[in-house]
Order: sequence, then structure tokens, then C-alpha cells
Amino acid sequence: MADDSYEEECDYLFKAVLIGDSAVGKSNLLSRFSNDEFRLDSKPTIGVEFAYRNVKIADKIIKAQIWDTAGQERFRAITSSYYRGALGALLVYDITRRATFDNVKKWLRELREFGNLDMVVVLVGNKCDLGQSREVDEEEGKNLAESEGLCFMETSALENLNVEAAFLQMIGKIHEITSQKCL
Ligand code: GDP
Repeated sequence: MADDSYEEECDYLFKAVLIGDSAVGKSNLLSRFSNDEFRLDSKPTIGVEFAYRNVKIADKIIKAQIWDTAGQERFRAITSSYYRGALGALLVYDITRRATFDNVKKWLRELREFGNLDMVVVLVGNKCDLGQSREVDEEEGKNLAESEGLCFMETSALENLNVEAAFLQMIGKIHEITSQKCL
């Protein structure tokens, strides 16, 4: 599907990144948000991909440029250029794989090392459609987010549950912070 949102005019443009372990659903969250698509196939290439989506908040058009690791996290090769200039991040884990939740702290350390200090971070527990295989309770996600000062949401890219809400929560907060700075 052609992405024509890059061509549309906007009032602000900002960058946000997706991070988290391999196969937690980052690419599918992004394709849901940008094209309303879910991809059953796995990613063919290694590199960085990004997608744009325009969002209207308080009659301003905000163009969000969201970067996806496209497999680089498998090699721990994400570098400072990936985080450079990013105002927000969705830090994703898979509720059916505890190891991906245990690694959230590692990702946070990396974010805090390379990213902007006031980056808006939403902790996302993805694959909540797989309730029977759940290894991480929603409460644990909420508690971790609260203790680290993050927003929190459980999502399903497959069933399109809360995907829009997670991205919009991040975009809305970034807008709030940047518009306060511009006053
Ligand atoms: P990434 O490596 O983090 O970008 O993960 P992908 O988006 O490539 O997804 C990894 C695998 O998880 C794929 O087989 C997807 O079909 C599957 N997947 C992604 N999101 C969901 C979801 O919300 N629910 C379920 N059941 N599977 C998902």
C-alpha cells in the first residue's frame, strides 16, 4: 500500500522509535498503525525501516516518523543514530514470553544512554490476544511502568487492540511537552 502521508503538509514533524526484543511484534504494530495491516510473514531484510502517519491534535497536524529496527536488535547492533532526535519510544515486550519482559530494563538502560532524557516512553505488552499462553500479568507490566515513570498499555497487533491508543498516547504526550516548550 502506497504511503502518501509523507507528502501531506504538517505543522510539526517528529521522530519516534520502536524497541524491544526480536519477534515481540514491533513491525506488526507499526504496519497496523501506519497502514492498518497485519503481516503473517517475517521480515525479509535487516536494516532500519520507518513509516509516517499524520495525526491531528488540537487542530495541528503532526507527522510522526516512526522507526523500526527491522531485525537489527537480533545482533544488538542498534546504535546512537537510531535514537538520535527521537522524542518518543514504544518499548515492546511479548506477554507470552517472560524473557522479553525481563529484558525491558536492558532496553531502558540503552534508551537512557543514547536517547533524549525527556523522551516519552510507552511500555507495550503485545500479543494480549494469546491470553492462554500469558507469562506476564498485566499488573506486572503496570507496576514496572509506574516504577520507571513510563506510560503502559497492552496491545494486540493481530486483533488491532489498543494499537492506535498506544501510538496516540505517545504522540499526544510528545505534543503536550513540545508545545509547552514553545510557549
Ligand atoms: P518484531 O521482530 O518485533 O518486529 O516482530 P514481528 O512484528 O515480526 O512479529 C513476530 C511474530 O509475532 C510474527 O509471527 C507475527 O505474526 C507475530 N505477532 C505480532 N504481533 C502479534 C499479536 O499481537 N498477536 C499474535 N498472536 N501474534 C503476533
